[in-house]
Amino acid sequence: MGGGWALAAHGGAGVIERGLLRPDQEAAYRRAMAHAAEAGAAVLRAGGRALAACEEGVRAMEDDPLFNAGRGSAFTADGEVEMDASIMDGRDLAAGAVAGVISIKNPVSLARAVMERSPHVFLVGHGAEAFARSEGLETAPPAYFFTLRRWSALEHALDERGLPPPPRPAGVVDDLAAALAHDEGKRGTVGVVARDVYGDVAAATSTGGTTGKRWGRVGDSAIIGAGAYASNRGCAVSATGAGEYFIRLAVAKEICALVEHRGLALQAAADAVVQEQLTALGGDGGVIAVSPDGAVAWSFNTAGMYRARIGAAEPLTVGLYKDDP
Ligand code: ASP
Repeated sequence: MGGGWALAAHGGAGVIERGLLRPDQEAAYRRAMAHAAEAGAAVLRAGGRALAACEEGVRAMEDDPLFNAGRGSAFTADGEVEMDASIMDGRDLAAGAVAGVISIKNPVSLARAVMERSPHVFLVGHGAEAFARSEGLETAPPAYFFTLRRWSALEHALDERGLPPPPRPAGVVDDLAAALAHDEGKRGTVGVVARDVYGDVAAATSTGGTTGKRWGRVGDSAIIGAGAYASNRGCAVSATGAGEYFIRLAVAKEICALVEHRGLALQAAADAVVQEQLTALGGDGGVIAVSPDGAVAWSFNTAGMYRARIGAAEPLTVGLYKDDP
C-alpha cells in the first residue's frame, strides 16, 4: 500500500486551560510537542516504520522533564518513580509492555525490547529491570528522574491524605523543569501513533503514572488494549487519563474494534468511547488515533491535552487547549 505517512502525539491530558499557562510555559509545551512529533516524523519521512516512529517520538518526551514519563515522572507515595510503557505493531499484533520499572531511562524502548527480544509481552518490576540489564538498555539513577514540581505535587498529595513525606532521593541537584512546568493535575502520560508509507500503523505509550500511587499500582499505559493498541485491521490508539477507567473500558482496543467491526470512522469511534463511554463511567482523559488509510483523530473530555499531528501532506499542528485546532 502506498500513500502518505501520518503521526499524532500526546503529552497528557488534564487541567490545561487558556489563562492558566504563562506565555513562556505555553511556548515551552508547544515547542516540546513539536519536537516530539518531528522526531517521529523524521523516521516516517525517511521511509522508516511506524513502530520506530512511535518509539522515537515517545523517547523525545521521556527525555523531556516537562512530561510525566521517563525524566520528570510522578513519584509514588514512597518517593520513587515506577514507570509503565507499552508498544504495539499493527502489522502482526506484536506487542511489548513493562510496568513498575525504576531505573530505565526510556521505558518505551524496554517495551520494544520485550516485544522483539523476549518470548513474552509483559514484564514487571525486578524482572523487567533484570531483562533490561541483560539487553543493555540504558539506566539512570533516581536523581536523573527527579523534578521539583513532581516532588512538590507528591508532598501536596500526601499532605491531603495525612501521610508523611518520604525522604528526597539522594544526589538531587536542582529542578530542571520548575520554571516552565504547568501543573495539569496528578497524572500525565506521553504517547505516539503513526501510519507509515507502507500503510502499517503502530502505537506507543509511556508514563510515570499517578502521583502518590501505592501498592504496586499499574495504570492503563502498560496494558495492551487499554493505554495502547494497534491493528492494521482497525487503527492505532494511545491514551492518557485516569488509568483505572481506561483499563475497565479497554479504551484503545474498544476504539479499534468500533472501526474494525462496526465500520465507524476513526473520529466517530474515538468520540464514542471518550465522550460517551468514558464520560458516562466518570473517567477523564483523552486519546490520539491513526488508521491505515492515514486518518488522524484525537478526542478528550478534559480541559486540554498536549497534542500534535503531522503528515506527509499535512503541516505540523500543535494544540494544548480545547479550542485549539
Ligand atoms: N493513564 C496514566 C495512568 O493512569 C496517567 C495519565 O495518563 O494521566 O497511569
